[in-house]
Amino acid sequence: MSGQLPPKKEREAIVRIALDVPRAAHLDAVEPADLTFDYRTSIVASPGQRVIVPWGRRELVGLVVAEVQQSSLAEERIRPIVALLDDVSALSPAWFQLVRFAAQYYQRPLGEVALPALPSLLRRPSGYRLSEGAYRSRSMTGLQKKLKALLPGEACAGEPAPILSAEQASAAEVICSVVTDEGRFAPYLLHGVTGSGKTEVYLAAIAAALARGRQVLVLVPEINLTPQLEQVFRARFASAVVAILNSGMADGARAVNWLAAHEGQADILLGTRMAVLASLPRLGLIIVDEEHDPSFKQQEGLRYSARDLAVVRAQQAAIPIVLGSATPSLESWSQALRGRYVKLVLAKRAQEDARLPAIRLIDTRRAKLEHGFSEPLRTAIAARLERGEQSLVFLNRRGYAPVLSCPACTWISDCRRCSAHAVFHRPDGLMHCHHCGWSARVPRACPECGNQDLAPLGRGTQRVEETLANWFPQARLARIDRDSTRRQGSAQTMFEAVHAGEVDILVGTQMVAKGHDFRNLTLVGVVDADTALFSQDFRAGERLFANLMQVAGRAGRADKPGEVLIQTRFPHHELFTALVAHDFERFAQQQLAERKGAGLPPFAHHALLRAEATSLAQALGFLEQARSCALARAEEFGITVYDAVPMALMRLANLERAQLLIESSARPALQAFLAQWMAQLHALHSRLAWHVEVDPLDI
Ligand code: ADP
Ligand code: ZN
Ligand code: ZN
Repeated sequence: MSGQLPPKKEREAIVRIALDVPRAAHLDAVEPADLTFDYRTSIVASPGQRVIVPWGRRELVGLVVAEVQQSSLAEERIRPIVALLDDVSALSPAWFQLVRFAAQYYQRPLGEVALPALPSLLRRPSGYRLSEGAYRSRSMTGLQKKLKALLPGEACAGEPAPILSAEQASAAEVICSVVTDEGRFAPYLLHGVTGSGKTEVYLAAIAAALARGRQVLVLVPEINLTPQLEQVFRARFASAVVAILNSGMADGARAVNWLAAHEGQADILLGTRMAVLASLPRLGLIIVDEEHDPSFKQQEGLRYSARDLAVVRAQQAAIPIVLGSATPSLESWSQALRGRYVKLVLAKRAQEDARLPAIRLIDTRRAKLEHGFSEPLRTAIAARLERGEQSLVFLNRRGYAPVLSCPACTWISDCRRCSAHAVFHRPDGLMHCHHCGWSARVPRACPECGNQDLAPLGRGTQRVEETLANWFPQARLARIDRDSTRRQGSAQTMFEAVHAGEVDILVGTQMVAKGHDFRNLTLVGVVDADTALFSQDFRAGERLFANLMQVAGRAGRADKPGEVLIQTRFPHHELFTALVAHDFERFAQQQLAERKGAGLPPFAHHALLRAEATSLAQALGFLEQARSCALARAEEFGITVYDAVPMALMRLANLERAQLLIESSARPALQAFLAQWMAQLHALHSRLAWHVEVDPLDI
C-alpha cells in the first residue's frame, strides 16, 4: 500500500468491471446479464481490485473482473476509470469463483452479487480524495488502524478442552484427520441430539485447522447465537483472532471485521448467513451449526441458501465442511443416506448425568384449558417455581392475540394493505400487521356495528405472559420475542439474565428455542403445537419437528432431569410419536417416503417465478406469458411447468402476488432451463416486479 503512483501501461487497456446498478439503466452494456461494463485505463488494474468509475454523472465503486482484448462498445464510448483503489488487497480468484457460482446458480447478475458482498464502506466512492498520487479515504485509514487493534497482544494459553466422550472423540478424529490431510473436499453431517456436545466436536476440528495456520468459517443461523459462541472461541483459542459478521453490526464494525478476514488476520470468522460470501484467503474448514435452520435462506435480493453455498465453497476450496444439527434438513439427511455426506452421530448427551428430557403429550381434546393452559402444564410450572428451577413456555406467535374480532358482527382486524389479519399488541394498544408493518390504533368500538367489546381471539406470547403473571405473581418472568428485543443488545441482556438465574419463567418464540445451553431449566411447555400440523406447505412438518425438538432440547441439559409437555389435539399424529421417542431417523424416513411418493424435494428441484402488481390479473398475465415460454421448451429440458397461481399471502403491502412453479428431477436440467428462460423473461420487458427463486423454501 504505497503512496506512489501505480505503474503506468504503455498503452491503454480495456477492463471489465462489475457494478451493482439497476438493470434497466444499462441496456447498451456489453454483458448486461452480468452487470459488467467496459472501461479503459492506462494503469495496471488486476482482477479483484476496486476501482472508481464514472456512471452517468455519478461515480461508483466497481470490481475489476478481467482485462479484455476487445469490447463491443465503440471505442469513443468507453470511458476511463477515475481511480484504482489499492488500500485493500485484491479479491482472490477463489472468491470470484464462489461469487460467480452464486450469481449463476441463483440467476442473478455478477455485479449484483459481488458488490453487496463487500461491506458498504468499501463500496462508497464519496470519501476518496487524491493525495500524494493515490486515492485515499479517511474512513478507510481509520479502519486500518482499528484492524490493528483487533489483533491480540501476547499469545497466551486458552482454556483446556474437557475430556471428550467416546462419541465426540471419534467424530472429532474423523474430521481432524481430513483437516490435517489437506486438499480434500469432505462434507460431514454431524447428527447430534440436543446437548450432545456438538460444540466440542467443532472446537476440536477448529483447533486442528488453526494449528495448520488455516482460517475457519463458522456459520450460525441467528445473530443472538453469536455472543455465546464468540465467548467460547475466545476462551478456548486465546491467541486466535476472532472476527464477527452479521447484519446487526454498524458499517464501521462490519468493515473492520470483514477486512480482518479478507487480509488474513482473522483466524476464525463467526457469522450469520452473509458471512458465507466473506473473503477468506487461508480458509481451511467450514462449520455450519444448526444447518437445518431456515434462517440460512436469504428471502430477498440474492435469494441464496448460505448452507448450500457453504458446501459449494468447501468443494471449490477442497476443504472439509461440518454440517451440524439435532434435526438435519431432509436435504442433508438424504445426501448422507446416499453416501455423499459422511454421517457422524452423537446419540447421547455429553454430560454424564444429563439425559434427554421426557416428552409428554397433553391431549387438549380431553384436558380442559384455562387461558390456553392445561392443568398438568400449570402444575408443572408451579412445581418448578417451588424447586427454584426454570421453565420455558414456548409459543411461536408474538403479540397478544392473532386477531381482534367483533362478537356482534363479522368485523375482524384485517391489515389494510395485506390479505392477512393484523395482530393485536397489548403493550402499545395497536394492531400490527406482521407482514408489512402496517399498524393502527385499536378502534374504541367496532367500525362496522359500534359494539364496544372487541374480543381478542387466540393467543400470542404477550397474552401467555399476562396469564402467567396473574397466576404466579411472585415469579420473575421474561418474554423473549422480536417485540421485546427490538433495542440493540436487549436480546443479549435478556438471555444473560436467564443464564444468570434471574428469570423463573421464560416465555418465547423460536428465538428461545435454539442453541442456548440453559443449565437450570427443567421444564419446557409447548402451548399450542397444532397450527403447523396441517399446513399446505410440504415443509411445515419438517419445520415443526425441528422446532419442537430444538425447544425440547433446552430442558434438562445439566444434571437435573428435564420434562417437556406438549399440548396438542392430535397426540396420535406420527410426528408426535416420533418426537416422544426422540426418533429423528423414524421421522425423516416417514417424511422422505412421503416426499418421494409425491415427487417433492429432495427428490425434485424447484424454481419459482414470482410476480407482483397492483392487480392480480396483471401479475397472472405476466406469469402466463412466462409460462408459455417455459412450456415451449419443457420437453426439451425435461421440466414440469405448473399453473400460475396466486400466492398464499396474496396481497402484501397493496401488491397482488402470484407465482409459477417449475420442477425438475435433475438440478443441471433445471439450471440449463433457467438460464435461457431468464433471457426470455427479460425480453418480455414487463414493467411489473418479478424475480426467480431457485430452491425456494416456501412454495
Ligand atoms: P449441543 O450443541 O450438541 O446441543 P453443547 O455443545 O451445547 O450441545 O453441549 C451441551 C453441554 O454439554 C454444554 O454445557 C457443554 O459444556 C457440555 N459438554 C460438552 N462436551 C462435554 C464433555 N466432553 N464433558 C463434559 N461436558 C461436556
Ligand atoms: Zn361489529
Ligand atoms: Zn400488512
